[in-house]
Amino acid sequence: MKEKIDDDLKYLWHPYTQMKDCRADPPIFIERACGLKLFAADGNWYYDTISSWWCNIHGHCRPELINAMAGQAAQLDHVLFAGFTHPAAIELGRRLVELAGRSLGKVFFSDNGSTAVETALKMSFQYWQSAGKHEKRRFLGLDLGYHGDTVGAMSLSGVDLFNERFRPLMFPTLKAPTPYCYRCPFGKKGYGRCSLECAEALGKILHREHGNICAVVLEPLLLAAGGMVVYPAEYLKAARRLTETYGVHLILDEVATGFGRTGRMFAFHHTDIEPDFLCLSKGITAGILPFGATLTRDDIYDAFYGDYSEKKTFFHGHTYTANPIASKVALESLKLFEDGVLLEGVRRKAAYLRDSLEDLRQMPFIGDVRGIGLVGALELVRNKDTKEPFSFEERPGLEIYREGLRRHLILRPLGNIVYLYLPLSVRQPELEYIIRNTREAIETFSRRRKAGKAAVT
Ligand SMILES: *Cc1c(COP(=O)(O)O)cnc(C)c1O
Repeated sequence: MKEKIDDDLKYLWHPYTQMKDCRADPPIFIERACGLKLFAADGNWYYDTISSWWCNIHGHCRPELINAMAGQAAQLDHVLFAGFTHPAAIELGRRLVELAGRSLGKVFFSDNGSTAVETALKMSFQYWQSAGKHEKRRFLGLDLGYHGDTVGAMSLSGVDLFNERFRPLMFPTLKAPTPYCYRCPFGKKGYGRCSLECAEALGKILHREHGNICAVVLEPLLLAAGGMVVYPAEYLKAARRLTETYGVHLILDEVATGFGRTGRMFAFHHTDIEPDFLCLSKGITAGILPFGATLTRDDIYDAFYGDYSEKKTFFHGHTYTANPIASKVALESLKLFEDGVLLEGVRRKAAYLRDSLEDLRQMPFIGDVRGIGLVGALELVRNKDTKEPFSFEERPGLEIYREGLRRHLILRPLGNIVYLYLPLSVRQPELEYIIRNTREAIETFSRRRKAGKAAVT
């Protein structure tokens, strides 16, 4: 196994990884997975408490899903999607339209979350250009939003740590202040004790700039990569009202929140609004194969419909668009939602997760506790009264990550945010184990901090 890891470090370059860190923390060599567990070659195992980067839905290696993929692979592995089609894509398109709601009538497939977002951006842009609104060229996002790592999606994202270096490559976008209640940009004391100044700020930008704006792009209710920031549904509703008033599209990026993670099929289903575009990926294939989908309204689709010579065609696509095996596993995953039992269970487990994490609020260094559905986050601060954050170099999250691994948990932090992002299939005893051990990992960290010991390496 040692040789395999040596070869990994010799030949491979891992994402979002300072490869020098791999000398102290080499990548963990996973051989197989089952349910919530990942099994390493050294005999250790881990609960997949991060849903393998926010995508796993039903646990690993579910026989129904594996059989569906195997059957599809034996019948039709892949076929180009221009001029050709196949049953799994057709059926999946129909299911997604049924699930999304009334006005989203068309599905455009791609192969990951960034492309699902890029597709929506280009559609919105072309729509306004064709409508003669040539000044509409810009997009408006949140200053802690995250929409992917391709240049267009990056331009729209606000997470500076990821983007700073590439700023000169990006096209200019507008950013509204994130409704981050714990650190309210307007100095208010939290939702319920404010007048939704964040929505007002969004309104002001739209009032001033709507003639130049194609779309507002939001992650509904949960800004995942931005630090697991959960915001009130009222903000989302306000954003819909404002975009309607000002004639601007609303693109919802449900790449991280879709497929039940928040307790509803889609996060925007916590409200009665409907977006103009819906971007899906991650959980769409239950976390097994790369896939993406962008849904939009029939009237937007109609604006692209015409004679070829009119040049209304949407010239965009990806080689693996609507891959049959991915389409099939997506369909099979949706079947597991059909009787409603799964989402009911998610809501029950979500309530338990929320209450149990709430108990950690009293612990030292825990500044904020927040979450939605099966996502729960703890924001670590150096000083609870002043909310003074730990510095970038201190990396308290790294210490807790290592403590987590010793307890079979993957507490891969986002800066100073330690979080759980659980598969929908998590069972109650697993949930209890995970919460108890998360608490212990943090307790160990705070004991060490209080004794004045810095991060051990
Ligand atoms: C992960 C993510 C993306 C990007 O998806 P990739 O498949 O990694 O390209 C886009 N938007 C959100 C909200 C995400 O969490």
